[in-house]
Formats: sequence, structure tokens, C-alpha cells
Amino acid sequence: MKAVVAEPLGGPENLKYIDVPDPEPPAPGQAVIQLEAIGVNFIDVYFRSGLYKAPETPVRLGNEGAGIVVAAGEGAPFEKGARVAYAMARGSYAEYATVAAASLLPIPDDVSFEQAAAVVLQGMTAHYLTHSTFALKPGQTCLIHAAAGGAGLLIVQLAKIAGATVIGTVSTEAKASMVRQHGADHVILYTHQDFVEETKKLTGGKGVDVVYDSVGSTTFHKSLDCLKPRGMMVSFGQSSGPVGPIDPLLLTQKGSLFLTRPSLAQYVSDPAELHWRANDLFRWLETGQLKVHIQQVYALSDAASAHRDLEGRKTTGKLLLRP
Ligand code: NDP
Repeated sequence: MKAVVAEPLGGPENLKYIDVPDPEPPAPGQAVIQLEAIGVNFIDVYFRSGLYKAPETPVRLGNEGAGIVVAAGEGAPFEKGARVAYAMARGSYAEYATVAAASLLPIPDDVSFEQAAAVVLQGMTAHYLTHSTFALKPGQTCLIHAAAGGAGLLIVQLAKIAGATVIGTVSTEAKASMVRQHGADHVILYTHQDFVEETKKLTGGKGVDVVYDSVGSTTFHKSLDCLKPRGMMVSFGQSSGPVGPIDPLLLTQKGSLFLTRPSLAQYVSDPAELHWRANDLFRWLETGQLKVHIQQVYALSDAASAHRDLEGRKTTGKLLLRP
């Protein structure tokens, strides 16, 4: 079968579309999926560059996919032909993937492979951030950086579903308009405006209850100044580069703040939590409460272009690959 690997680690030009061995028959508890749609996520950039370490050589890319079960191992509760999606199992930039059946999510009939592949990883991230890490309530206000991004547009919508007031940051007017269309109450162009000053103005000087920050290096420290006393800083990514070391005393000086650096893995390891998050997302998709914006579908062989566009800040919403 065909697959995309990073060899050697480095820039998008190092992504190679190569032949790899076909999947073995699945072990007990596993299933082989024929992929129909593959999600592109910033985490793939980190595995490609080597910021996140993978044990195998060459490194297999991709953490999210949707497709059809073509073989199920003993005890795997799926029939051949079942439509499924999954996140957080690496190797989805391929024609087939072997995945633990426990992580597979049945796709409802009304939801397409593309929609499912566009929503599982970033949607479950948006869900745990807004419903668990800092469970938003009506009357609370959140600040969401890179609000037009794949994770961003979904966090905006889930924060609104939770009843919060949403302030989003983006780099361009076109992205601002997209974020407004997805329900944000206020949008700040953080490339032109001082987002601390604007956030203070919008909150009557009080600051926000929580910041969801996926941008990292360029936004982290100023984000602490946007929080009200005892507010929570959720640093969940580093699209602009990693955040350096932090002195805990800084959190005291900025107003007894809370800081967390969460990962999706710890919020879906319990099957009940995994299915709660996925069922909410699929239900909201079916009822129209949640919109998925798929900006572009690339050929699997052209994964490098998807990476260039994502890293180049050219994209809004989701990018997919088609095998
Ligand atoms: P996005 O679609 O959000 O793309 C990145 C966006 O970040 C850009 O569009 C851009 O928006 C903004 N950005 C700001 N500065 C830079 C820069 N210097 N270079 C590139 N982009 C920049 O990507 P994803 O939704 O896939 O992921 C966003 C982040 O969230 C990643 O760091 C990812 O690892 C993290 N993440 C973490 C998870 C977790 O559980 N911890 C799970 C899922 C994602 P703009 O032009 O508006 O500034």
C-alpha cells in the first residue's frame, strides 16, 4: 500500500509518498481500516520535524482518519464494512491503518467520512478544553487564540454551546469574518492590535476567566495579562514555537493564576469519556449546532502542500487528505 513518511525528519519537502507493506491480519482487539478521509493536524508537523519523537524509522505520519473496517481481530466489536473514525493513533497518512478497536468511533449514517475525519481530533480537543479542563458556564468569558484554525473554529462553537462569551484572535480580516460566522462575540486582530488592551476593554477591565492558547511562544506571556485573578491559562499548543520555562512565582504575581498544559490523550483514555465527547460532537453535527469548515482536500501524495499551507498560516478550519 501507499503511505507518507518523514525521511529524514525536517521540512515538508521531506515527506515521501512510498510503498510500505500491506497491513498484517489484525491481532485480537485490533481492526484494519481502509481510509477514505485523513485529517491533517499541527501535531503531524511536530512528528515530521522531530519536536515530538516517534520510535520507528522512517517516521509514519498522521493521527486521525475515517474509513471502512476491512478486517476485525478477535474481540473487536466491529463488522467488516462498518464506518468508523478515530484519533490519536499514528500512521493515518496511508491507504490502510491498523488501529485498536477500543479507539474506533462508529460514524452515524448522516455524517460523511470527510466530516468525521474533520471533527474527531480537533473536535474532541475542543470538547475537553471547554467541557472538562475549564468547563465553561453561562456568564463566563474565554479568549481563544488562532480562533480561525482547525481547533480554533471548533473551540469557538463549543464555548458558545456551553453558553460563554467568546473573544477570538486571528491574523487577518478574512479570518476574523470566518470566526464571527462561527459565533464568536468579539474578534481581535492580534497582528495589528494589542490583544491584552483589547481584551481588557471588552471585559470592562476585569479580564477573562480562561485563555485557550494553541499559539505558544508569541502569545503565552501576554495571555497571562488577559486573565482575571484566579483565572486559568490553558496552554495546549505551540504553533509559533514552544513556550520556554516558567517560574511558578509568575503565576502568583499575575493574580494567583492556574496553568495547565493538557493533551487529548489523557482526556479520552477512559472509554466513557471518549464516547461522551464523540457522541456530543456527532449529535451537534446532525442537529446543525456544530459546523465543520473543510478548507481543502489534498491528495495523500500531496501531503507536503497541506503542511506548507498549515505552517504558512494560510488556512482556516480543517485540511484533509484523500488516499
Ligand atoms: P491551526 O489550524 O490552528 O493552525 C495554526 C494557526 O496558528 C495558524 O493558522 C495561525 O492562525 C496561528 N499561528 C500563529 N502564529 C503562527 C506561526 N508562527 N506559525 C504558524 N501558525 C501560527 O492548527 P491546529 O488546529 O491543527 O492546531 C493548533 C495547535 O493546537 C497546534 O499547536 C496543535 O499541536 C495544538 N493541539 C493540541 C492538542 C492538545 O490536546 N494539546 C490537540 C489538538 C491540537 P492566525 O493566522 O490566525 O494567527
